[in-house]
Amino acid sequence: MSEPAGEAKLEVKQASKEAKESENVAEKYSAMTVSKNAEVNMGELSPAFSAVPTHKPVKKIQFVEDKQEFSRFPTKTGRRSLSRSISQSSTDSYSSAASYTDSSDDETSPRDRTQVNSKGSSDFCVKNIKQAEFGRREIEIAEQDMSALISLRKRAHSEKPLAGAKIVGCTHITAQTAVLIETLVALGAQCRWTACNIYSTQNEVAAALSEAGVSVFAWKGESEDDFWWCIDHCINTEGWQPNMILDDGGDLTHWMYKKYPNVFKKIRGIVEESVTGVHRLYQLSKAGKLCVPAMNVNDSVTKQKFDNLYCCRESILDGLKRTTDVMFGGKQVVVCGYGEVGKGCCAALKALGAIVYVTEIDPICGLQACMDGFKVVKLNEVVRLVDITITCTGNKNVVTRDQLDRMKNGSIVCNMGHSNTEIDVASLRTPELTWERVRSQVDHVIWPDGKRVILLAEGRLLNLSCSTVPTFVLSITATTQALALIELYNAPEGRYKQDVYLLPKKMDEYVASLHLATFEAHLTELTDEQAKYLGLNKNGPFKPNYYRY
Ligand code: NAD
Repeated sequence: MSEPAGEAKLEVKQASKEAKESENVAEKYSAMTVSKNAEVNMGELSPAFSAVPTHKPVKKIQFVEDKQEFSRFPTKTGRRSLSRSISQSSTDSYSSAASYTDSSDDETSPRDRTQVNSKGSSDFCVKNIKQAEFGRREIEIAEQDMSALISLRKRAHSEKPLAGAKIVGCTHITAQTAVLIETLVALGAQCRWTACNIYSTQNEVAAALSEAGVSVFAWKGESEDDFWWCIDHCINTEGWQPNMILDDGGDLTHWMYKKYPNVFKKIRGIVEESVTGVHRLYQLSKAGKLCVPAMNVNDSVTKQKFDNLYCCRESILDGLKRTTDVMFGGKQVVVCGYGEVGKGCCAALKALGAIVYVTEIDPICGLQACMDGFKVVKLNEVVRLVDITITCTGNKNVVTRDQLDRMKNGSIVCNMGHSNTEIDVASLRTPELTWERVRSQVDHVIWPDGKRVILLAEGRLLNLSCSTVPTFVLSITATTQALALIELYNAPEGRYKQDVYLLPKKMDEYVASLHLATFEAHLTELTDEQAKYLGLNKNGPFKPNYYRY
């Protein structure tokens, strides 16, 4: 996510201070905050963090520059239509290729069938409850690469830090998310869950969760109407008052805020993962309408610097290979945007022998690309010669129709950014161009002279549409989400006000330390003398809040 413009100024000023003064920094700058300060007293972390030493109060400073409205209310259309007009996040952020039980042969809507699990409950709506056993195996496979999350589950199991928590969740329903949901349950929470994307649900996993007692309302290939129906059923049930939200994209939050304001007011905390959802929360906060504390997980170091960078570094190749079988050695590739995602893509492609060009608007990122050995160009300079064009800017119309016209025969075009706005796909839907679907998620767009451009996932984000993403990375994000929920739920009255917070650095470090065990990594401990010299607590946090990693 792009950094807010105002933050740079603030941080130059902060950087001039000694680390040992960091606990006072927020107070010093409190007058400069654009939104309300979000103060976290880390000295009172919940018992689940008893292994983590405490430190002095830290303030997180947010800037609200975003102009998005938190007033987008869904329109209901035909029940079976697969309209793309629902939430951007619900359709564009993810479309998993990972469900092995698509059940496209069974056209009966799950809404038209009553199913019962082995315990006699019918409080769920999934494609087919009979797939539960298969889904369970998928979850067990995911657990193997999510050992840090499982270790959190074991550590906090006896304390049950989420006892009494009633969490409504709206995320992708995959084997990895199931491990998170079952962790929350093991820590004492009751959960009801729905999907944040109409395509991404692994039906067998949804069945396994429902069989295990989690009320899931989701299936792969929901219509727009189904999507909101599922969210509504997740929230609105007799005798069950949710008190926590875990959201990815903000749709559930938005629905509850608009449709069930009295339920919303009683929520203790919201944890939001996505850029889109976070923007909506900041907007609500800016308008003074956020009556619930919220945690912005998207901007946690353990999300942004891992999910965005390392996940994309691995999955860009997977997405391209699965769709096109392309060989990377010697290919000319242009990557638009050298942020976290772009850096990951470039590194992977370079490692396989591709000749990589970068486009950037930001001189700092452009210089980083140069220093990393990439040629920084304007897209127009290379558009005729490249074999592959990849967008990852978070921007719109980065690849225009004019540039698509000039690409050579056989050029591959794809997007790794959040939404399908980066490539002007709409401009390709004109009568003179022919579209040929050659594989799932692969279209040949054919010009009158016979030239073909290979468009992947219709410009939606490639890795999540056409491949899977590494489980280990999702474990990092899921652990961060679990800790954010525990912290918000257990926080004493007044620690969190009605604002959007970043996860305290101490918790980011804790998430990282849990995952280090996988690698048998041994960290060096500061000596007393070194700690004093650096002005640090020997147990962290080890970096000031403005540190970039
Ligand atoms: P970022 O802000 O770190 O990087 C984006 C870069 O694009 C910036 O450096 C910006 O200067 C540059 N840029 C903006 N407009 C441009 C233009 N017209 N031409 C060239 N460069 C331009 O963001 P990020 O973390 O790299 O994320 C990028 C996008 O990828 C976002 O939409 C994000 O939501 C998405 N994302 C995707 C995945 C995935 O798995 N595919 C994972 C995380 C994030």
